[in-house]
Amino acid sequence: MIYLNGSFLPLEQARIPVLDRGFIFGDGIYEVIPVYSRQPFRLAEHLSRLERSLAGIRLPNPHSAAEWAVKITELIAHNPWEDQSVYLHITRGVAKRDHAFPQNTPPTVMMISSPLAAPAPEHLARGVSAVTAVDNRWLRCDIKAISLLPNVLLRQQAVDAGAVEAILLRDGMLTEGAASNVFVVRNGILLAPPKSHLMLPGITYDVVLELAATIPHEVRPLTETELRGAHEIWLTSSTREITPVTRLDGQPVGAGEPGPLFRRMHGLYQEFKAAVMRGGAGTSGG
Ligand code: PMP
Repeated sequence: MIYLNGSFLPLEQARIPVLDRGFIFGDGIYEVIPVYSRQPFRLAEHLSRLERSLAGIRLPNPHSAAEWAVKITELIAHNPWEDQSVYLHITRGVAKRDHAFPQNTPPTVMMISSPLAAPAPEHLARGVSAVTAVDNRWLRCDIKAISLLPNVLLRQQAVDAGAVEAILLRDGMLTEGAASNVFVVRNGILLAPPKSHLMLPGITYDVVLELAATIPHEVRPLTETELRGAHEIWLTSSTREITPVTRLDGQPVGAGEPGPLFRRMHGLYQEFKAAVMRGGAGTSGG
């Protein structure tokens, strides 16, 4: 069951007019919220990022956070899986094709849930391959825009090379992955690029930095040289959690296997998730 403009209906019955500005211009934004044991993880944070994405494209938020929470809870209840990935998608609605914003046009609001698979055990045990690529996206990568053509092409570049992700470099500096944030470990210190208009402020990125309170860490710009000389590289995202990268551009990262700091952070993350599921802490603003 999906949600479209106020109703719940089976996916096969849902229809979008061809003049929807999401279809015509990619004029919209989205969110992806992981749900564990039927509880949305970090809901408040996802909804405030949604608010910022909407503000970034000057589209009024059609619902309050409380209304979103009710709709998301209903969508979860309508679907059979304990762990779900809830996809929210809002476009500037249906109007005659013209680049300028239409007047008095309601947005299109859609939510789809799908089963959320845990990260593949072999990825956690052995790590994954990534390639580097030039970050050729626009300058508002902080907006979770549905127009993802550069990300699609960059991810495919990775897949064509037998890798799972493209790690992006802009002017010699690390930004993020095609659909993930990137952490680096050098000499026992966890390093992360600072949030800016050049990367998506990941919800998982924030969780990892919170959990790094007892681990030496620095948030600062990272160079290509630092990335290539890393002892560990991790990818983070809501659907992949924390994934170790053990080969970069065909070369081993550090010892070529998931490192000690990854093991520690993976353990902290699983403990945190379990605590959230018991107490609901991850759905709060904290
Ligand atoms: N960067 C990009 C470009 C993404 O698409 C994503 C999400 N898939 C992320 C980072 C990670 O964000 P989050 O941890 O909120 O899923």
